[in-house]
Amino acid sequence: MTLAPSLKLPTITAIRAYSMGGAAAKVHGQGGGDYHDQGHDHWIDDHIATPMSKYDEYKQSRQSFGINVLGTLVVEVEASDGTTGFAVSTAGNPGCFIVEHHLSRFVEGKRVDQIKLIHDQMLNSTLFYSGGGGVVINTISCVDLALWDLYGKVLHLPVYKLLGGAVRDTIHFYATGARPDLAKEMGFIGGKMPTHWGPADDDAGIAKDIAMLADMRERVGDDFWLMFDCWMSQTVNYATKLAHAAAPYKLKWIEECFPPNQIESYRQLKKNMPAGMLMTTGEHTGTIEGFKELSDAGVDILQPDVGWCGGVTSLCEIAAIAKSRGQLVVPHGSSVYSHHAVITFTNTPFSEFLMTSPHADSLRPQFDPILVGEPVPEGGIMTAEQLDKPGFGVELNRDCPLERPFQH
Ligand SMILES: [Mg+2]
Repeated sequence: MTLAPSLKLPTITAIRAYSMGGAAAKVHGQGGGDYHDQGHDHWIDDHIATPMSKYDEYKQSRQSFGINVLGTLVVEVEASDGTTGFAVSTAGNPGCFIVEHHLSRFVEGKRVDQIKLIHDQMLNSTLFYSGGGGVVINTISCVDLALWDLYGKVLHLPVYKLLGGAVRDTIHFYATGARPDLAKEMGFIGGKMPTHWGPADDDAGIAKDIAMLADMRERVGDDFWLMFDCWMSQTVNYATKLAHAAAPYKLKWIEECFPPNQIESYRQLKKNMPAGMLMTTGEHTGTIEGFKELSDAGVDILQPDVGWCGGVTSLCEIAAIAKSRGQLVVPHGSSVYSHHAVITFTNTPFSEFLMTSPHADSLRPQFDPILVGEPVPEGGIMTAEQLDKPGFGVELNRDCPLERPFQH
């Protein structure tokens, strides 16, 4: 079957990969797609508990163990009618190599609507070195997002309309950052704080994070949501004790207590949880099989990162896994790449906004400065109208110091 002439779609003529920041950069603290690549004196690098916290020399700063080593990956795709699409994620120079020397063969020459076919070929051709996640899947995600952006720009439609359209007029956000009290003043529905202590600190660590929670509960009152993000740093015993100590302060959920493949730990914690508190995770899981396991273990909210889980194509599949069990999918904050997907999901009643201002005291676009026109919530709310631009509705900021380290 051939398409009617008026529906004839252009082909993809070129794919290019650029990097910014990361280990290869001359200047650090650029932000962009690798939002951990911030300058000094930033809440996102202030003694946050991690699996590396057991080593004294890596306790204070995640940048000290290399959290910003990858940097930003920008993938740009060009169609035969001259239209370009692009996306950003966290993969830097390694991602550039994978795009230019491997994935380009599945993209160039295809029609702009063949996104699912390209997605399947990218996933299956990299199985022998992807390990089911990590930088390879981040890179595939970035290509997938760039393809959706291109498709939307060719058709002059926002991505959310290509995905079936909005199921609500607005998206309500909670804020992740060190200052839920300020997030409340800005109109957000809740605030998620990083934990600063972990199993190496034992009961004294729990006491210090609970003191932070108690102080914040005092500031925000009873009805504002407060959550803990534990960034894979805990044990089942420690997480259980922390959750029970936090229950009197109405902690809404406890997030990512364990590394992504510790499914049995999540299953056990779910059994141990205080009544009414939610268990959430998923931002470092990179396959739909991984999300199926997390869903099986009883995770209440699956939190894929659309830039790290396989792109919008995979995110829609993950949302369906959660939906089949009555679970929620609330993606790890990824700006426009999340917004266009979640406004089409019936099981995403709210979404995440990551505060990237250094002191979490003002609204800064998450991927600043790499995107031009990146929308932010106003009064904690984003409207569908804010997304009504072709593709993901943003342009690449070509004033950023982009490099193209490989070409094919
Ligand atoms: Mg998190």
